[in-house]
Amino acid sequence: MPLAKYRTKRDFKVTSEPKGVKRTKAAEDSLIFVVQKHQASHLHYDFRLEWGGVLLSWAIPKGPSLDPSIKRLAMAVEDHPIEYAKFEGIIPEGQYGGGTVMVWDQGTWVPETDIESGLRDGELKFSLHGKKLRGSWVLVRTKRSAGKTERASWLLIKHRDRYASTSDIVSVRPRSVISKRLMAGIATAAGGNIAKAADSDPRK
Ligand code: MN
Repeated sequence: MPLAKYRTKRDFKVTSEPKGVKRTKAAEDSLIFVVQKHQASHLHYDFRLEWGGVLLSWAIPKGPSLDPSIKRLAMAVEDHPIEYAKFEGIIPEGQYGGGTVMVWDQGTWVPETDIESGLRDGELKFSLHGKKLRGSWVLVRTKRSAGKTERASWLLIKHRDRYASTSDIVSVRPRSVISKRLMAGIATAAGGNIAKAADSDPRK
């Protein structure tokens, strides 16, 4: 049951996050990825890659960087259902991950190496075709957490290509790719904590 852990953490009578009842299969040339900006107790960016009918997921405290010299810590978290990629709104306070969620980027991804052995060996190379994130990337598991698949520490690093840049993408492009809203706008529309959500928007 790949989504059992996802489900046990959530009360679906209270949160509007998807239950993930259907296991969706897609062709390998149209695997989706999503990056969700999530202001929970701490701000982070959830980086999710569709694989094996679920979204493999990592929480990146500082968000992705387009600068190949910058390595961003990415903590492996539980697999999420495919439908989660469309989730933008609020998770009620007091629930697991309570706070505002934005679809910060989305698109498709293409494995550049064998993903099953990459997951085992702790090195995934892939390219992203998103609105903000493009080109070639790598996720590398750190030595200390070798062997463990969940709660393991990985590093997300941009490869040098024409999409590499020193521009700080998370501050330069702060809006939702599906609604153009900022975090405060999402919280306002969904009846969430507006001040807390606004904390992670760029200062005026
Ligand atoms: Mn999260």
